[in-house]
Amino acid sequence: MLRRGGRRAFMIDVLIIGCGIVGAAAAYELSRYNLKITAIDRLNDIAGETTRANSGLIHAGFDPVPGTVMAKLNVRGSRLANELCEKLDVPYKRTGAFVVGFDENDRATIKRLYRYGIENNVPELEIISGEKARELEPRLSPEVICALNAPTAAIVSPWDFAIALAETAALNGVKFSLNTEATGIKPFDGGYLVATSNGEFKARAIVNAAGLYADNVHGFLKKADFEIIPSRGQYYLLDKSAGSTVSRTVFQCPDESGKGVVVTPTVHGNLLIGPSSEGVDCCGDVATDQQTLEHVWKTALKFVPGMDMRESIRNFAGVRAVAGIGDFIIREAAKGFYDLAGIKSPGLSAAPAIAEELICLMEASGFKFSLKDEFTDRRRVVRFRDLDGPGRSEAIRLNPAYGRIVCRCESITEGEILEAFNSPVPPVTVDGIKRRCHAGMGRCQGGFCLPRVIELIAKQFDLAPQAVLKDRKGSYIITGVKGE
Ligand SMILES: Cc1cc2nc3c(=O)[nH]c(=O)nc-3n(C[C@H](O)[C@H](O)[C@H](O)COP(=O)(O)OP(=O)(O)OC[C@H]3O[C@@H](n4cnc5c(N)ncnc54)[C@H](O)[C@@H]3O)c2cc1C
Repeated sequence: MLRRGGRRAFMIDVLIIGCGIVGAAAAYELSRYNLKITAIDRLNDIAGETTRANSGLIHAGFDPVPGTVMAKLNVRGSRLANELCEKLDVPYKRTGAFVVGFDENDRATIKRLYRYGIENNVPELEIISGEKARELEPRLSPEVICALNAPTAAIVSPWDFAIALAETAALNGVKFSLNTEATGIKPFDGGYLVATSNGEFKARAIVNAAGLYADNVHGFLKKADFEIIPSRGQYYLLDKSAGSTVSRTVFQCPDESGKGVVVTPTVHGNLLIGPSSEGVDCCGDVATDQQTLEHVWKTALKFVPGMDMRESIRNFAGVRAVAGIGDFIIREAAKGFYDLAGIKSPGLSAAPAIAEELICLMEASGFKFSLKDEFTDRRRVVRFRDLDGPGRSEAIRLNPAYGRIVCRCESITEGEILEAFNSPVPPVTVDGIKRRCHAGMGRCQGGFCLPRVIELIAKQFDLAPQAVLKDRKGSYIITGVKGE
C-alpha cells in the first residue's frame, strides 16, 4: 500500500486515532513499551477539540456513581494527574473544591455526594457549615448553609497536560501525524488497514480516541452500538484582576443536567465561570450566545455575589461527548480494536487511568508488552516570568531572545516561542503558540502580540504572513491575499 509521497504503509503495532487528552495519555503510556506507535489527528495540533475548552478541573471523584468505570478511573486518574503534572512540568494546583448548598434539598444532595465520595475512596472529604465555608472562602454568599469540602480537587492547564503527554510520547518514539483524518477501517489478517486523508496505515491494533467522533470511527469498522450526543458548555473568562475572587473551585449543587456551574481560579491566574449545558446539533458547534451566558452569570452570582462582568476578557464554549449510557465506553470492541469513547467529564481527570486501563485490556487480549530499557519521563519548560532575577539574566545570557518580550500582558518572550518550535510536536498556528507559551492569553487577548507571533510563525515555516493560521484549516488572519 502506498502512502502520500510514495511511502509504503509499513505495519506498525498501534495506531491511535485522536490526539486529545485521551489519545495523548494512551500514546504516553504505550510509549513505555517496545512498540511502533503512530497517533493521528484530523486537526493541526494536539488538544484541538474538547480538550482545549473545558473547566480544567481535576475532579476529586465524589460525583460519579460508585461502581461505574468513571468512578474508578476518576479517582485513580486524579492521583496520576498529580504525579504526571509534577514530572512533566504541567501547570497544576491542588486548590480543593466546594459544592455549596442553599437549602435542605441541597444538603441531601451534598450528603449523597459525600457518600459517593467515600465509596469511591476519595480522601479527606467532609461536610462543613456555611459559616466554616465562608471562613475559607469569604466571597461566598451569606445564604450558603453547607458545603462539601474536597481538598484533593485540583486545577490544571488541560491543553498543556495533553501537549506534555504527547511531547513525552514523541521523545519516546511515538510518531504524530497531524492533519490526518481517518476515513475508513478494514480488518485484514493480523491487523487493520486504516484509510486517512494522508495515506494509509496498517496496524496490529487500533485505539479509537476520537472524542466527539468516536461513534463515526467505530462505525468505519462495524455498526456502532452507541451514539455520541454533543452537549455544549459556555464560559466567561475573567481577567487576572478577578483571579483571587475564590481560592478553590466552587460548584453549585448539581442537578439532573450535570455538575452545573463552577466559579474557579485557573492555573494561569484568571477566574473561570461556567459551563452551561445544552444540546447542539453539530459536534463542532462552539458558538456562544447571550441568553445562555446571562443564565450562567446569574447562576454564578447566586453563590459568589458581587462579581463584575466588566472583568470578562473572553467567552468560549466546549462540547462534551456524551454517549448516553452514564459511563465511559472502554473496551475491546473487536479483536485489537479498542474504544475509548463517551469520555465526557471527568475525562480530563481520568485520562491517565484510562490509558492504564487500555494496557490492561490489550494485555488481556494477548498483546505482548516488553518495557523499554530507556524511557524519558521528565520534561522541563522555561517560563521566563516564573524565573527570579538571576534566572532571567542567565536565560538571556544563554539566548538573547529571552530578553525580547512578545506578549506584554503575560510577559512571554521570543525565546519561549522559539523554544516551542523545537518541541517534538511543534505548534504551527497562533493558537498553537498560545497553548504552549500562553502568548495572547492575557487581558488584551493577543491584540498586542499577534503581529509578532504571525511574523515568528511565518519565519519559522517559511510562509507568507497571509498564510499563517489562527487555528484550524482556513482560519486566515490577514485577509485579502490568501497565502499558500
Ligand atoms: C464544557 C466542558 C467542561 C468539562 N470540564 C471538565 C473538567 O473540568 N474536568 C474533567 O475531568 N473533564 C472535563 N470535561 C471533559 C473533558 O474535557 C473530556 O473528557 C476530554 O477532553 C475528552 O478528551 P478526548 O481526548 O476524548 O477528546 P478530544 O479532546 O475531543 O480529542 C479527540 C480528538 O480526536 C480527533 N478526531 C476525531 N475524529 C477523528 C478522525 N476521524 N481522524 C483523526 N482524528 C480524529 C479530534 O480532532 C480530536 O482532536 C469537560 C468537557 C466540556 C465540554
